[in-house]
Amino acid sequence: MNFPDLHRHLGGATHPRILWGYITRHGIHTAESARLQARFATYEDFKHEFDRPFKDLDDYLTVHHLVEALQAEDIPYFTHRAVRGAAVFESVDYLELRFNPYKRTPASLPDAERRALMGEVTRQVILAARTEFPIQTAFILCMDRGFTPQLNRAIVELAAQTPEVVAIDLAGPYQPGGPTPSEWRELYEAAKAKGLKTTAHLAESDPEDVHPQLLPLLDRIGHGIQIALHHAELLPELAERRICLEVCPMTYLRTNTLRDIAELRPVFERCQHAGVEITVATDNPALHGEVGKIVNEYERLVRADVFHFNDILHYAAAGYRAAFSKVESGLTVK
Ligand SMILES: [Zn+2]
Repeated sequence: MNFPDLHRHLGGATHPRILWGYITRHGIHTAESARLQARFATYEDFKHEFDRPFKDLDDYLTVHHLVEALQAEDIPYFTHRAVRGAAVFESVDYLELRFNPYKRTPASLPDAERRALMGEVTRQVILAARTEFPIQTAFILCMDRGFTPQLNRAIVELAAQTPEVVAIDLAGPYQPGGPTPSEWRELYEAAKAKGLKTTAHLAESDPEDVHPQLLPLLDRIGHGIQIALHHAELLPELAERRICLEVCPMTYLRTNTLRDIAELRPVFERCQHAGVEITVATDNPALHGEVGKIVNEYERLVRADVFHFNDILHYAAAGYRAAFSKVESGLTVK
């Protein structure tokens, strides 16, 4: 059986062994590799940074920053390995890969040069994702909560100009300097006006991170579990707007959002009752070890009695239905 994965970050999609292989082979040539080789003496030390317990979502995201800086040095190398690995080792046949193009440009360059490079970086990711393995890949560009409205607007413009980019996302930790709620609305309105699909990281670990004013502008929500857990009164609106939740179980354990996967049972039950679609996704499998693969996410949910084994077909099919690009024939669960 094959699976769709609609929520996977490029920064969390390459296994630490691939990153370390790059660091040790190229470390003498590139600044970021050399920096990481100086920081981590052995592969075990490096891998521990990925496997260690994280305090919270912000701590979890520090590993993203480490990976993003390294990936900026050779984006095709890491993208190609992430995509073919998903096809071969996880039986993913439809993947939506998301990334922030600005963060994949060298941090040593002036801001204007980094902005100018975003299009080239995006083109490189799209080209490197092509593989002879049986997987269809679409791309989502991430805006960032800490970026100015102008920089986020440039990411929307780039997404609209790139046919392979199907949607826009909002990611990153909350921090000063980012858009206000009304500016977020304007950014999403601009994306919709240009024909882009939309998703946003919302209601992931903070029960109050909901922002109902964005709902009319969203096609999907990254996570959104706190809506089902603490604001179930909004579920009928989600159903009416046909907003699908991208639920990534392992992330909630790694960020200490949930203590037990069984805590997702009311999320699935309430969404099913209200008619809200859910797709199961991986978020950052490289930060979750062997247990982060998509098949393990489904197995974890079945073992915790969140849903029945036979429901795997339903939730896989929901992922294909909520896909942002047309899924090629022959891939979907009937
Ligand atoms: Zn995510």
